[in-house]
Amino acid sequence: MDQKRLAILGSTGSIGTQTLDIVSKYPERFSIDILTANNNIDLLISQAREFLPDAVVISNDDHYKKLKDELSDLPVKVFAGVESVEQLVVTSSIDMVVAAMVGYSGLRPTVAAIKAGKSIALANKETLVVAGELISSLVRELRSEIIPVDSEHSAIMQCLVGEHENTVEKITLTASGGPFRNFTEKQLATVTPEEALRHPNWEMGNKISIDSASMMNKGLEVIEARWLFDLKPDQIEVIIHPQSIIHSLVHFVDGSVKAQLGLPDMRLPIIYALGFPERLDTELPRFDLKDYETLTFEQVDLKKFRNLALAFEALREGGNIPCILNAANEIAVDAFLNRRIGFMQMTNLIEEVVAASEKITGPTLEELEETDRHSRRLALDLLKKMNYRWEL
Ligand code: MG
Repeated sequence: MDQKRLAILGSTGSIGTQTLDIVSKYPERFSIDILTANNNIDLLISQAREFLPDAVVISNDDHYKKLKDELSDLPVKVFAGVESVEQLVVTSSIDMVVAAMVGYSGLRPTVAAIKAGKSIALANKETLVVAGELISSLVRELRSEIIPVDSEHSAIMQCLVGEHENTVEKITLTASGGPFRNFTEKQLATVTPEEALRHPNWEMGNKISIDSASMMNKGLEVIEARWLFDLKPDQIEVIIHPQSIIHSLVHFVDGSVKAQLGLPDMRLPIIYALGFPERLDTELPRFDLKDYETLTFEQVDLKKFRNLALAFEALREGGNIPCILNAANEIAVDAFLNRRIGFMQMTNLIEEVVAASEKITGPTLEELEETDRHSRRLALDLLKKMNYRWEL
């Protein structure tokens, strides 16, 4: 059997470490050729020692010397800087890129990998949010493939296997509702980062945990789904499903509905993406309906969780608006984590940035980069004017 050769971009994050954990159980199937990280040099060193990739990249050049010294006894090439990530995925003979970086930083390397004809296992949803139009036309043109690692999109894809001749009426993305599902607006105004980071069902990184609590994660997923599955905005609906067992549903034109179920464990969508189109044997805990006598569903309160409404609006507007939404959200999440603004103010900031920005239709990659830079600057300026005192 041919080994699948992998590059894991963002190997020290939550998805990256879980991917490596899976890979270590299937040495005959996968080999690790490239590992990249932003700052977490100690973990990157120990991963390089364990998996002996051809190359490692640390995005932050300050750590280059230490990384090089620590790996000098191994046949592992060491690089620094984000440009090196891009160059490596293009020039090396890997089969698949696992795009697991956080936020906007995933865009360039992912575009480069698609252009170089690599399969993409996409965990970085921001990439499709920012540049979905551009990326999906590239994917069509080059007949490359993007396999989603996001649990909801993996579910949709699994429901669509074997259905390519058939018409989808709509899809339903499920949302756990996060830790604040039953909070009032007043209660939401004073929640702390610590509370927001405590997700009831999923173990995730900081950025995505805050996005989940604010429902922006679901908003980004709506935009992601639009591009992955070529849907119109009104073909996508969101429903709260607090148990996170049904990962999403596809409604077909005949009235039939398919759903994909499983325990809330990110390793499942990761394994599906790595093995696709094959399903790999696992020892993971099994799902048993008897443990879940009641599965419940609720409408999302869009007045309380306005981020989701903002994301739908951005998707309908199109052009560079989702890119603006994403940039403003990254600044807002960071500001909330650093206690500079309150939970509800994240939405205000995003709304203001979008309202103050200029729309570009059919943006190029360069225009998106300019939009991203500009929106971040604008968000930081507006942030200085925002009045907030942490009163807890
Ligand atoms: Mg998800």
